[in-house]
Amino acid sequence: MSKQPLLILGPLMPYLIEELGKKYEIEKLYEEKDALGFLQAHAPRFEAAVTSTFTGLKADMIDLLTAVKIVSSFGVGTDSLDVAYANKKGIKIANTPDVLNEDTANMAITLLLASTRDIVANDRFVREGRWAKGEAAPLALGIEGKKVGLVGLGRIGSVIATKLLAFGCDVVYHTRNKKPDISFKHYDNLVEMAGDCAALIAILPGGEATQGVISREVLQALGPEGTFINVARGTVVDEIALVELLKSKELGRAGLDVFVDEPNVPADLFALDNVVLQPHMGSATVETRKAMADRVVSNLDNYFAAK
Ligand code: NDP
Repeated sequence: MSKQPLLILGPLMPYLIEELGKKYEIEKLYEEKDALGFLQAHAPRFEAAVTSTFTGLKADMIDLLTAVKIVSSFGVGTDSLDVAYANKKGIKIANTPDVLNEDTANMAITLLLASTRDIVANDRFVREGRWAKGEAAPLALGIEGKKVGLVGLGRIGSVIATKLLAFGCDVVYHTRNKKPDISFKHYDNLVEMAGDCAALIAILPGGEATQGVISREVLQALGPEGTFINVARGTVVDEIALVELLKSKELGRAGLDVFVDEPNVPADLFALDNVVLQPHMGSATVETRKAMADRVVSNLDNYFAAK
């Protein structure tokens, strides 16, 4: 039986390309010199395509995928995919939720501990020979017994909450809808929650609806003793305010996995000791990336099996 043609819109991990190639006749659009010409000539062949949160799926691309009915995306976030327009055009979008909950939550906890305990700054302190010269590193902050506010309490936020409990934190949360079966205190007002918290962890979707939800006012309420962790999307925070407040120490510390214009990170952050930076690594472990890849394949398989 001949393999079903499958259009791959952007680069993917080699394991996923290999797995897709076992079952589908893959075509890498991103390797075509003239992608537009290729699509104009061959789009009717492809009922299915694969993308990722990094490559995305914009309306102009959707218009070119004239026969596509399913796009299987690598990643859980859909802010870089125009899902509403795709659905309107009769295209289903599949993503890879749940399998990345634990590792993304672990990144949030890692950044919280690394920030509050000044791990990166102190690593530099040792390497620069300052300890050996008799200098003392400043005291860090503990998290036990501290109030930690989650902005978002969905699949990943709930896992972060469970892990925070193991560190003796008092978990509170802000979402648009209070969860009926959850005993953590819910705040309608994010500024109020930030004012009550030692740390705030952003784990809500990106996109227009959440743009700048973590505002200057929220960060100021968190204050000089406060720590802001972002494992959501760069767009959920007012990044200009974030950088200014970290520089002036009006906000104490931050641990950031995501940025507005990735892979470009505001250069002012590089000189700061009170921020820990990561290149969007929340789900980036060998185990989780493999599980996400398997999910991309099974989402396609399920579609073709009419499930
Ligand atoms: P879910 O959809 O399960 O949960 C989203 C949560 O955000 C819900 O509790 C929702 O509650 C809340 N929320 C949505 N809009 C708002 C708002 N305007 N204000 C406050 N809360 C809001 O998503 P996941 O937990 O699976 O993932 C969350 C996001 O994490 C993803 O969309 C992705 O962008 C990011 N992510 C980042 C990774 C990384 O590598 N750093 C890896 C994986 C995911 P309610 O609807 O009641 O408001």
